[in-house]
Amino acid sequence: MILLVEDDARIASFIAKGLRAEGYSVTVAADAAAALGVTAVHGGDLDLVLLDLGLPDRDGLTVLRSWRDQRLTLPVIILTARDEVSSKVAGLDAGATDYVTKPFSFDELLARIRAALRTADQAVSTELVVGDLRLDLLSKVAWRADQRIELAHREWALLELFMRNPHHVLSRTQILNRVWEYDFDPGSNVVDVYVSYLRRKLNRPGLVPLLHTVRGAGYRLLSGELPTT
Ligand code: CA
Repeated sequence: MILLVEDDARIASFIAKGLRAEGYSVTVAADAAAALGVTAVHGGDLDLVLLDLGLPDRDGLTVLRSWRDQRLTLPVIILTARDEVSSKVAGLDAGATDYVTKPFSFDELLARIRAALRTADQAVSTELVVGDLRLDLLSKVAWRADQRIELAHREWALLELFMRNPHHVLSRTQILNRVWEYDFDPGSNVVDVYVSYLRRKLNRPGLVPLLHTVRGAGYRLLSGELPTT
């Protein structure tokens, strides 16, 4: 989904219509507050942002900086009438992926969108996804069905290990070696304790449990379907 941040209703409708005709789904925000609201709630569903700089409540660059501070790594193309070099530089320095000045040709905008999406796809992923679970490797924050989950250091390392090996049974010894990284008393129940902390954080009412105990073998993370055994 593309987020279009544009306060000029006529321009917004023209761009949104054009993008939808090309098969993109588009959501429009008419000011900075609405844009920040959309990314806070639907950040994970967004592929790209088109950002006008002259917004009624706040400068678009401020919005862009706060997204980058929040480690929102989406491609952002600035869309503005300001064509001075200094404002392009400021935009790119604030974390913009690209810059298109109005008036622009729609074909050029489409080409820049395609290029930005291609680059984003090729970028080393900073996120692991298993079912409705996401882990941001930069901010070390997890989301389950878009609910934010705060993780302590070991919980995060444990979850990363499970998410890098979904569906695989990991033994206590494997987990100890990978997460605690030194020889731990194999009789210790530290793994079980942390798995239970993690499980409590991942499990949400109405959602399928993800972290399963495999008796006598260890634990495994499934992507949402119930185990058949
Ligand atoms: Ca504007």
